[in-house]
Amino acid sequence: MVTEEQVLAELSQIIDPDFQRDIVSLGFVQDMVIEADTVSFTIELTTPACPLSPVFQKQAIDLVGDLPDVEHVRVTMTARKNEDRRMNTEESGLKEVKYILAVSSCKGGVGKSTVSAMLARTLAARGSKVGLLDADVYGPSIPTLFNVHKPGVRSTDDNRFYPNEVDGLKLMSFGFLMGDGPAVIRGPMVAQYMQQLLHGVLWGELDYLIIDMPPGTGDVQLTISQSVQIDASVIVTTPHQLSLTDVRKGIMMFDKVNVPVLGVIENMSYFKPDCCDKKYSIFGEAGATTLEERFGLPTLAELPITSQLSGDYDAVAQQTLANETVDVVIRALGKKVMEQPSRPEVEFNEKTVSLTWEDGESVTVSNSALRRACNCALCVDEMTRAPLLDPASIPMNIRAEKISMIGNYAILVDWSDGHNTGFFPFSAIRDVAGIKRKQDGFQGCEI
Ligand SMILES: [Zn+2]
Repeated sequence: MVTEEQVLAELSQIIDPDFQRDIVSLGFVQDMVIEADTVSFTIELTTPACPLSPVFQKQAIDLVGDLPDVEHVRVTMTARKNEDRRMNTEESGLKEVKYILAVSSCKGGVGKSTVSAMLARTLAARGSKVGLLDADVYGPSIPTLFNVHKPGVRSTDDNRFYPNEVDGLKLMSFGFLMGDGPAVIRGPMVAQYMQQLLHGVLWGELDYLIIDMPPGTGDVQLTISQSVQIDASVIVTTPHQLSLTDVRKGIMMFDKVNVPVLGVIENMSYFKPDCCDKKYSIFGEAGATTLEERFGLPTLAELPITSQLSGDYDAVAQQTLANETVDVVIRALGKKVMEQPSRPEVEFNEKTVSLTWEDGESVTVSNSALRRACNCALCVDEMTRAPLLDPASIPMNIRAEKISMIGNYAILVDWSDGHNTGFFPFSAIRDVAGIKRKQDGFQGCEI
């Protein structure tokens, strides 16, 4: 009978091109069972709709099937789930969502919703379980893009919503709750509706939730990024120079909350008439290239000016460009998931709080300075950003009584004065310490 070592030796010939390593050393091969002439195992990829999945499966069957005494090879393809997803509430409708991808743009009018819809439709057409959340409170466009104009959603007695379903794709939009009319609601209401949209939708089990973010990089966007553990984001832009400046703000916003930006999708990049293959770059060509040079952010796709990408479901699924874009995004997501940055060690005493990372980076701040930097709603007015905390009210001997980690980007502190509502992103702690990280290269952000 064949041994596990023999099977693993065969499987280690399969190289994942995104990591340049074999799938055995990457830990993808699991649950091996060898019974007489039958070998069964699971290959767990980083993300469900990985375009490499059928390739790996075939290679595995071929390689293991060639071993002596093996008659049957059973390969189950699965995907890793983000087990760390931290929810504000136990009852969050997101708890069975494997991956959350945010599609953002720093300005309106760049086709962000169209790109979100294209990604969602293409993934769903490939058989993934997909949800699309239109988080644009002020200008929801998903109802129009999917032709769902009749407002209304089914809800439960405790005010949780069922998503609408269009061709197997689950949709939720602020527009379903409010209708087509312009939303005249004020800040605090926005925050409340947003929490309901983020955590009160009964998505059930999803491979991917695409969040169509509101355009911009202000408080609403930051709130979303903080209250949902977004796995990664893509930024949609156009070749306008104007949009370029804004992209920087988007990168900075996601950086603040440690959400990796996979790259940029350049929309309305060119116009290609039906009659020939010529591409006309109406807005110039420099946009995405410049971004890559300046920020090291890859261009994931360049999409033409067209109405087709928002066309009907089947047409979209067959479109080469939509499929290529999804391939690039999903592979970039899988790669990011493997590269989770390490969490620092936290130490605190009568005087200071210190964070030390595996790579040796270390930050130490005084207790009182950190406490005074609290950015929570009790310490800083959410709407006006005016300070509400009197620094003189902080006792000199203040100290942390308990510190817990939030995701891998912030700590939550229970202070000895009883204050425990503020969380401190690592970037904010570095600011308190006066340390600028090497990556924090961009300037002139006016979030
Ligand atoms: Zn506070």
